[in-house]
Parts: sequence; structure tokens; C-alpha cells
Amino acid sequence: MSTDDILECGRSIDDVWDNLDRPPTEHEQSCTYCIEARRRFTRLRDLTEQAREADEKHEISPELAQRVVDFARSHVRRGKPVPVYRTPTTDLSFSEYVFLSTIRRVVDSYTGVLARRSRIHVDENPDGGRTRMSIRVSLVVDPRIWRSGYDEQLRSALIHTFASELGVELTSVDLVLEDLHYDA
Ligand SMILES: [Zn+2]
Repeated sequence: MSTDDILECGRSIDDVWDNLDRPPTEHEQSCTYCIEARRRFTRLRDLTEQAREADEKHEISPELAQRVVDFARSHVRRGKPVPVYRTPTTDLSFSEYVFLSTIRRVVDSYTGVLARRSRIHVDENPDGGRTRMSIRVSLVVDPRIWRSGYDEQLRSALIHTFASELGVELTSVDLVLEDLHYDA
């Protein structure tokens, strides 16, 4: 990790982003750097959401797409843009963080499962149609559920969410059981 990814308080912006869907930690409630980073990331997420909604209604404007991309470039220092939507007039990319946080949100919504590290890989980015992507997610799982078939449910949920929310087709979902923990 380069020093660009570390906030002035010493926390990494990855940590701030990863925790965005959860209540702020004690540190994040009092640290001005983390408060500001959370505010910016929330704004980015809202813009992305607007773009997604507009896209569903086939109303996305190149201006909106460009706003999202510009915002991501200027406010997120890490997380390269991943192209997801391309027509002759529109070229929409989401920050890598958008995909990583979507993975985390889907995984964490399962009782007894938490996402630890995620990686995405773009297989194919056709000029028209859906981007194809593979993902790898390492998990912390509560031992009480780890034989329950949660992994197949999780795989289906990730494939569905990526298709419906991000317009991306997942070609492979690699779930790696990294740790067992009763508080997962
Ligand atoms: Zn901080």
C-alpha cells in the first residue's frame, strides 16, 4: 500500500471505505480526517446510485455519467475506474470501490458471514452489452453455519446483485473460507 492511501490520522482509505455501510467506529466519530473521507465516499455512493437508477430507466445522460467518473477520479485516490457501460455516446465507469463495497454489502447481509478481502478482475469489456467480471472473496464464517450451503446462496446473490445493480455479468465467483469466527 502506498502512502497515498493513508489518511493523515494513519488509517487507510480502504478501511474507511470498507466500513462505509456500517455505523462509524469510535475513531471515525471523532477524527476529522475520517469524518471528511466518509462524507466524500457517501457522496460518491449517492452519485453512483443516481447513475444506476437513471440507467435502469434508460435515461442516463453523458453528463451524469461524466460527473460520476470525474467525482471518482478527483475524490478517490485509489480504486481504478472499471468501465461498465458503453454506447457510442456514453462511457460509464465505476470506481473499483463500488464493486468491492457491493460485494461487502451482499456478503455482510448474510447472518454468520463477513467479507474480508475482495478482488475483482474484468474478463471482457465489450463495446456493447455487459462487462464480464470474475471476483474472489475471502470470508470469515461462523462455524455454526459453515456447512449450511451458504456459499451457493451467496454466489447466487452476488451474481444477481452485480447484474441488477451494476449491469455486470459475473463469470466466476471464487469464495475462499479464510477463517472461522463465532462473531462473524
Ligand atoms: Zn481518522
